[in-house]
Amino acid sequence: MNNIVAIVGRPNVGKSTFFNRLIQRRDAIVDSVSGVTRDRNYGKSEWNGKEFSVIDTGGYIKGSDDVFEGEIRRQVELAIDEADAIIFVVDVEEGITPMDEEVAKLLRKVTKPVLLAVNKVDNGKRLEDAYEFYNLGLGEFYPIAGMNGSGTGELLDKLVEVLPELPEVNEDEEALPRFTVVGRPNAGKSSFINALIGEDRFVVTDIAGTTRDAIDTKYNRFGFEFNLVDTAGIRRKAKVKEDLEFYSVMRSVRAIEHSDVCILMIDATRGFESQDQNIFWLAEKNRKGIVILVNKWDLVEKDSMTTKMYEQKIREEIAPFTDVPIIFTSALTKQRLLKALEAAVEVYENRKQRIATSKLNDFILPIIENMPPPAIKGKYVKIKYCMQLPTPTPQFVLFANLPQYVKDPYKRFLENKIRENFNFTGVPIDIYIRQK
Ligand code: GDP
Ligand code: GDP
Repeated sequence: MNNIVAIVGRPNVGKSTFFNRLIQRRDAIVDSVSGVTRDRNYGKSEWNGKEFSVIDTGGYIKGSDDVFEGEIRRQVELAIDEADAIIFVVDVEEGITPMDEEVAKLLRKVTKPVLLAVNKVDNGKRLEDAYEFYNLGLGEFYPIAGMNGSGTGELLDKLVEVLPELPEVNEDEEALPRFTVVGRPNAGKSSFINALIGEDRFVVTDIAGTTRDAIDTKYNRFGFEFNLVDTAGIRRKAKVKEDLEFYSVMRSVRAIEHSDVCILMIDATRGFESQDQNIFWLAEKNRKGIVILVNKWDLVEKDSMTTKMYEQKIREEIAPFTDVPIIFTSALTKQRLLKALEAAVEVYENRKQRIATSKLNDFILPIIENMPPPAIKGKYVKIKYCMQLPTPTPQFVLFANLPQYVKDPYKRFLENKIRENFNFTGVPIDIYIRQK
């Protein structure tokens, strides 16, 4: 499990510039397969050997200067609730603004580590100006220039020093698969869990945000045994206007990172929306197993084509990673709930699967021979052999004479072939080409 670091601050102080600097290298690796960068506001970073997740809270309400003060306030509150540490970015060019003071007031009350980064300190003159930020009452500050990276080393040294030690994971607990039900408010997550568990442990009403605390339920019925995690309950009450991208991301990150399979529940009456997409990407980026449930299917008027078309539309939204189970459920009428669990269990097994090297090569080498990577500048790529790495999520490495000439489309071609022949449904896989 990772610590979660939230970057907060008002617009245009340089949060996303700094965020990009933090996640740069890692993301280049993570996204090399799909070739697509998805959620630009969430990523992983590492400093002094310590890995942590970073969320750029500003990324979700970017652009406008007339952003509601209330909006930023709520973001900061949410970050305080959900993150393990907070980096508060201010802008030395502008000096202290009323909104900075407002944010500082919230942060002064926080017991979690808060680091004040005074950004755009590009030169010595600005370093002098930076001292005014002592007045925010947050103690020591870190002068940085997100643009060129100066000062960020000291800030990160301090950050990893103050990040809390995460509890050791209990091994027995770890052995049980963890399934997390994620999705936007009101999709029916609590109803689903409630229906499965068959007891009224969750208060479900028509009003969003009424579910009680997040609960881990050890599930052991119908031959399945796993931990079922409800994220609906992690919601904070009332005043937060929940239905915003940022909230669902912030709320889901930790649960997703700590699960094996994410059961992404969408509301059939609303369709697959950008929030759903964002949660999907979070799961994909974390290389978690994924099952999509289209819930409230009882409310949809259907003819013989409805399911097919609905399914196809979702697959277009989640491309290129489309090899994912999509199941149409009703938590209300209890339709296909067990099927949903079966799918989650299958995805879990798929994710753990290891293909023997000989079996893999017997399959893949003839395909490569038939359809080798395209030659570049008259140079031919030869792939000698292939193996699956002993990693927690499926990763394949192919050894070649000229690895740099194997481009993403060819990797995708290989991935599709692997998916056709072995069952990796619901599981993101990575393909790397290395020098032989
Ligand atoms: P955000 O809205 O807080 O995410 O801010 P951005 O990262 O989009 O940056 C806002 C503006 O500040 C952009 O024009 C950046 O180029 C600029 N900026 C960011 N970091 C620095 C820096 O270290 N020095 C200077 N001079 N400008 C910066
Ligand atoms: P959550 O916020 O994702 O946990 O959603 P809830 O489980 O609280 O459900 C929100 C509302 O949708 C409640 O009024 C539920 O009764 C209703 N609901 C949940 N699942 C279904 C379903 O499959 N069909 C119908 N018709 N209503 C549902």
